Amino acid sequence: RQSWASDSSDSVISSGSDSDGSLYKVILLGEHGVGKTSLARIFGGVEDCADAEEAGNTYDRSIIVDGEEASLVVFDIWEQDDSQWLQNHCMKMGDAYIIVYSVTDKVSFEKASELRIQLRRARQTEDIPIILVGNKSDLVRSREVSVDEGRACAVVFDCKFIETSAALHHNVKDLFEGIVRQIRLRKDSKED
Ligand code: GDP
Repeated sequence: RQSWASDSSDSVISSGSDSDGSLYKVILLGEHGVGKTSLARIFGGVEDCADAEEAGNTYDRSIIVDGEEASLVVFDIWEQDDSQWLQNHCMKMGDAYIIVYSVTDKVSFEKASELRIQLRRARQTEDIPIILVGNKSDLVRSREVSVDEGRACAVVFDCKFIETSAALHHNVKDLFEGIVRQIRLRKDSKED
């Protein structure tokens, strides 16, 4: 299976702003250990660096989605410190959110629902793109959350759903392309 990092030369243009000048801020939310940093680093094309476990980074990159360039800044800062201020700020600043749980950890799945509720409260009147992500789909034997449970949760919380494996690079590209499509859908409907 090809990794996104190795086949990225044609899909990465530059870091910078979108063709219409916008740079979309995407925030990763989720419990410790679910794979936020792993997903962010695959997006950033830097997953092989030595400090792979270190949280608290942002990844700025342009990708081509449906023939059009989009610039994303992915924030992996949710767990940077325990400050309420930072977490409140995260809930306010994003143009889109990726809420991650691990399919091997039921508690992280329950936490994902709490985060969705928190987000709804912080951004009541806004229709912000959210993707619920069940990561670690490669760990078949230790699975605690089924695909159906994940999908049902996304229906209840009115967001998109995808299962990924950062370890196998499975669906990671689709995840970030999906975020761009969700952002565009809302932007287009506003412009109409
Ligand atoms: P974070 O705390 O949410 O940022 O999680 P990390 O990205 O630091 O990942 C926590 C641990 O889970 C690390 O040891 C990762 O290598 C591992 N991990 C992350 N994603 C996957 C995955 O898709 N499959 C497997 N098997 N392990 C993963």
